[in-house]
Amino acid sequence: MARTFERRECYVNCAEHLLNRENVNIMFEQASQQWSREEWKAFFRQIFAFGYTDFSVWIPPTLADPGTRRTNATKTINMMIECAHEEGLKFQAMLSVNTFGGEWYFACPNDPKDKARILECWRYYARSLKDVDYWGLFPGDPGGCNRNGCTHITFLELSLEICAIIKEYQPNSIVNFGTWGTPYSGWGGDMRHTENWDGTWAMLTDPSNHNPAIPCHIWNGTKTRAKQCIEDTIRYLPRFPKDTMFSINVGFNPMSELQEGYDGAALAREVAKTHKVATWDYFASEGELICYPHWRVNRYQRKRVQDMDNAPYFGAICYTMTPKMSQLMLYCGAQLMIDPDQDIDVLVGNFSELVFGDRKIGGLMEAFEIVPTWSGYEPRRQFTKKELLAMFAELKTRLIKSQGFVPKLPIFPSVDEYRETLLWHVEHFTELLGENPDRERIEQEYYDRHYAIYKEIPEAADERTREAAKQYADIGKNIS
Ligand SMILES: [Zn+2]
Repeated sequence: MARTFERRECYVNCAEHLLNRENVNIMFEQASQQWSREEWKAFFRQIFAFGYTDFSVWIPPTLADPGTRRTNATKTINMMIECAHEEGLKFQAMLSVNTFGGEWYFACPNDPKDKARILECWRYYARSLKDVDYWGLFPGDPGGCNRNGCTHITFLELSLEICAIIKEYQPNSIVNFGTWGTPYSGWGGDMRHTENWDGTWAMLTDPSNHNPAIPCHIWNGTKTRAKQCIEDTIRYLPRFPKDTMFSINVGFNPMSELQEGYDGAALAREVAKTHKVATWDYFASEGELICYPHWRVNRYQRKRVQDMDNAPYFGAICYTMTPKMSQLMLYCGAQLMIDPDQDIDVLVGNFSELVFGDRKIGGLMEAFEIVPTWSGYEPRRQFTKKELLAMFAELKTRLIKSQGFVPKLPIFPSVDEYRETLLWHVEHFTELLGENPDRERIEQEYYDRHYAIYKEIPEAADERTREAAKQYADIGKNIS
């Protein structure tokens, strides 16, 4: 019998900083890349067929404050909920508990004005979104606070208040309480100290304010703090609604790896005695920053096996910021939640046979997993340039040959568009691995193709698109 994760969540992160050609826009009513009801239905039909039980979306900070934008987006999200239910999926709405606006302001629960803003936001959504199955309470990243004496206890107390609001308006929906961070991202000692911090992202991340020895504004909690957080979480458990689910990774670190002193698995085992627990392993399936067709099947399998070896998990997630390009990882993610111990070479073969009528395409796509980014890069093997070029040449031939095959899985937006996207990257990876690639031209082509939407909307607070284009154009530089 397979050790199956019963709750299999597909998480599309479409926040301000992760918009790109392959993602969806739910925030900006005047801008492109919004999906119609039919498109949402087709996407949900696809992920249900892949094996998911739940869909999850982050309601980004841009939609936290009152106004026309929030009102319009609420209609969109309610439409998404209806479509998800019609296609057999449960729906999770996730919010950072205290982050506001596209500029990412971290509201302080110990400041009465900020506190009112936080409660208004939660009350609004609890009242306005209909039939939400799960509410994800996310501590931060962005979000959290260490001003005015805020600690992880502030987050626990605030979350209990938010739980009460949710249960008041939607007694049947379930709170999914997130522990992301060391734990509790951004709360108290997890957040880097900034002298006279005003709560803005800009000041928090301004290098001139910081000791360079502390490179990141979050992930700074000590082992002593982690131990205290674990004890306090267990102490607070009885105060949460009985049906609350807890998202707890096996390790309290960005990549959710087992780590002495940051033992999420111990907490997960303890909480699992009375509540459902899920792993929220964000970087298992895909990284952030560069958009390309990821092949992290080996990594995803290792992570799910690690979860099941360490705690009786009920749920897991598969994240993407490129839902229109990540069909292979989305399929493999769901299937590895159903059976984490299966043969992954057979699995990727099954995928491409169902989609393209060709068992070899799925395996050849491993050639894309050569982009050494910070967020979860874990290649199964090192290919030489010669091997990669041969793989891309064969992939191209096989993709072209597959034209006309009617897929046996529903593919969103369509198998033709998926093939076209793969071929675009095959062409560019091939040039980047070849003799004298025109990296400047490729950087611009990548930028123009993926980030056209930022001509219509403000650049995100963390301004990562230029960096992503530069890194895409660097592909192949370190391969011989
Ligand atoms: Zn505070």
